[in-house]
Amino acid sequence: MSASDAIPAASAATPQVLLSHHLKALKLPTFLSEYAKLAQECAQEGVDHARYLLRLAELELISRERRMVERRIRAARFPAVKSFDTFDFAVIPALNKMLTLELARCEYAVRRENIVALGPSGVGKTHVALALALGLAACQRGFSVAFITASALVNQLMEARDERRLLRLQAQLAAAKLLIVDELGYVPFSQTGAELLFETFSQRYEKGSTVIASNLPFQEWTGVFGSERLTGALLDRFTHHVHILEMNGDSYRLKQSKSRRRKTAKAEDPAASEAIDPLTGEILKPEP
Ligand code: ADP
Ligand code: MG
Repeated sequence: MSASDAIPAASAATPQVLLSHHLKALKLPTFLSEYAKLAQECAQEGVDHARYLLRLAELELISRERRMVERRIRAARFPAVKSFDTFDFAVIPALNKMLTLELARCEYAVRRENIVALGPSGVGKTHVALALALGLAACQRGFSVAFITASALVNQLMEARDERRLLRLQAQLAAAKLLIVDELGYVPFSQTGAELLFETFSQRYEKGSTVIASNLPFQEWTGVFGSERLTGALLDRFTHHVHILEMNGDSYRLKQSKSRRRKTAKAEDPAASEAIDPLTGEILKPEP
């Protein structure tokens, strides 16, 4: 739709109708919703035109920022909706249930403490991180939350640097009340990538909470960041105020697919007493 299509005939339209049209075309929704009320207030207070416009522009800027934050949270695209209601603590006895549920109360975010979830693939690290993130996003305090995998974050930082908008992205990342960095450890970073990630963590130090989920214990992080010095400095800051969720256990995914296979094998051949797991070669005993 071109602007001229929708412009009401000037002769018939009141200035308010035209103004409303133009403000919409200019994408200034707060100007539109606030100008009349603010004009009244400014008239009462004897505020001049320039200051009236200034106030309107400030309101527009503030609400634009708010809309941006909302967009950013949507853009953070939580990969799934997970909560502690659907998390079975019994299958992962290594995980400190008391501590996890205490963290779910969000107080750590007020105190700007960090969390790290450590354990092999499939033990529920992402589930726990998402449950914490969504809990915090939904909490009454309206905290802003960003969820990203470590490699996507590094890619975004590198892209922003190439496009000369790194400072803006870093400011956004530093401003999130909670930044969740998932899957740290699967892909090693380039030197620049590692430095950019280090800067991000460094800028968040004592400003906001960071949750990291990693398949690697701390002593193996050097392999991901490529530099002992950088890793040391990072861990020093990150672990200053940290809650560690040890999640050593068997993969929940693997366990589920094994039990699915057992059920299928039994259904197909009720007489079969055992089956071989095609992934592990393990002999699967039939369920009692
Ligand atoms: P990780 O991030 O450690 O690789 P995920 O969090 O992605 O593991 O878990 C894999 C799948 O198993 C997800 O669908 C998750 O919801 C589920 N899952 C893992 N652990 C549990 C658990 N203890 N209770 C319920 N579901 C679980
Ligand atoms: Mg995961």
